[in-house]
Amino acid sequence: MKVISRSALDVQKVLDALVESAARLCDAYDAAIFQVFGDDLRLVARHGQMPNPIGGVGQFSVPLDRVRIGGRAVIDRRTIHVADMLAEGDEYPEGRKLALQLGYRTALAVPLVHAGEAIGVIFTWRAEVRPFTERQIELVNTFADQAVIAIENTRLFEEVQSRTRELAKTVEDLEIASQHKNQFVANMSHELRTPLAAILGYAELIQEGFYEPQGPKSLDALTRICSNGKHLLGLINTVLDIAKIESGQFTLNMTEYAIEGVVETVRAATESLAQNKRLTLTTSVDKSLPVGLGDEQRLTQVLLNLVGNAIKFTEAGEISIAAGARNGHFAVSVTDAGPGIPVDQQDRIFEQFHQVDSSMTKAKGGTGLGLAIAKQIVEMHGGRIWVVSTPGKGSTFQMELPTRAEFRKPVQPSMG
Ligand code: ADP
Repeated sequence: MKVISRSALDVQKVLDALVESAARLCDAYDAAIFQVFGDDLRLVARHGQMPNPIGGVGQFSVPLDRVRIGGRAVIDRRTIHVADMLAEGDEYPEGRKLALQLGYRTALAVPLVHAGEAIGVIFTWRAEVRPFTERQIELVNTFADQAVIAIENTRLFEEVQSRTRELAKTVEDLEIASQHKNQFVANMSHELRTPLAAILGYAELIQEGFYEPQGPKSLDALTRICSNGKHLLGLINTVLDIAKIESGQFTLNMTEYAIEGVVETVRAATESLAQNKRLTLTTSVDKSLPVGLGDEQRLTQVLLNLVGNAIKFTEAGEISIAAGARNGHFAVSVTDAGPGIPVDQQDRIFEQFHQVDSSMTKAKGGTGLGLAIAKQIVEMHGGRIWVVSTPGKGSTFQMELPTRAEFRKPVQPSMG
């Protein structure tokens, strides 16, 4: 029992211990375990005093058939006890031959049954005619059960190991495929931007009357071309950012910047959007803020995204941007009077593709990527971003940024 429990995964040790114990405790000359391999019974453990004309473990096997007692025990899934192989061996002609060859008379074969199927057989035999007692037969049955557990444990362990190897390979293949996809998306987005920039550039030149004066209808069409073109450029940039984040190529370009400048740039860029929806856009920036170190363009992108969302989701009222500094950090927030975000969604909206599942969000469109990118950028600066919101009243998106940020290589997001 000790050997069995200590060598749970070394099946050979367990089987050796079982045949040794079976032979000794049943007062038999020999004991052996055979396992079913296809159409054969293969010797996997043996212990005994008799000379060994059949060869060692791994060298000897017999066909799985009904003309030997082992085969019969396996096929019928029952214990077979033959008091004298020479006298009663007619049913097992091949078994008798073997008995003569090996010199045994009394034989006991107990099948190893797992889930209703015999996976092998444990044998004990004696050189003289002396039947096994009930107790000895019971003992061999117990050993058979132990052998099944040991064989099954090992099989399961090997299966788990092989599945684990397969899974590791699959994960590796998926990672390679995912890298290829990201590279493709990154290249493609880049390729799309070039012609789009030309389209936008020429449209603006025509709009500005660089070639010839334009009538009101053309000007209106040109305005639409430019605004849709810019929207498309924004989408392409978003996709490019995600591809870069996924492939670990997203980096920051650290320079000194003024947070006041970032707020002002965003205000100027979004003012007309707010006006179009009759929303008030206010800013409140503390005096004498320290000079920041970080990626100004990326931080502007974050704030632009927050203010853009605030305008997109708010139908009436005020949107305010606030910036201050404390404890070596900038605190920047965007407050709106929009629909708010349910508490259980407040963390999840920073995940890729996550949008609050409401008809309102769906009506507003969007990719669900903006906040995921914003979070990445803020965290790469060593900062954090979160939302405080009361559904029905509005939301405040807040971020805390080290004033002098150190570029942190991002933890690559897991696939999926
Ligand atoms: P997108 O706006 O393109 O869907 P984001 O990642 O910027 O992607 O936002 C994710 C989701 O978070 C939005 O779809 C919306 O459900 C919710 N959300 C973001 N900002 C606000 C806001 N100011 N008010 C209400 N919901 C918001």
